[in-house]
Amino acid sequence: MCRYKILHHNEDGYAVKCNECGHIKVCYKTVVLTLDEEMFYEFRDAVEHNYETHRDRICPHQRRIHISTADPSVSMVFCLTDLERLMHMLDEAHMSLEIEKLIS
Ligand SMILES: [Zn+2]
Repeated sequence: MCRYKILHHNEDGYAVKCNECGHIKVCYKTVVLTLDEEMFYEFRDAVEHNYETHRDRICPHQRRIHISTADPSVSMVFCLTDLERLMHMLDEAHMSLEIEKLIS
């Protein structure tokens, strides 16, 4: 059975890691992703890359940034503002993961 530890949570959602199987769940608004650690880092990189690529190029509220998921038939679409908030959450979760590694 999964035993989750909170990596980060705020009004948009949360990121938790299972102490048993190591999976990470990222819940952001209405979407929940279940990722292994490598997928978590890939997802974080994709979010950051898309943010850097689109900032200063599109209106912050245009919902035009697509991020793919492990299922090719499902992708997520963001405006710059939402993507920035997700990136913040992933950065905080990443920091918790790093701290966890340092103290374990
Ligand atoms: Zn588990």
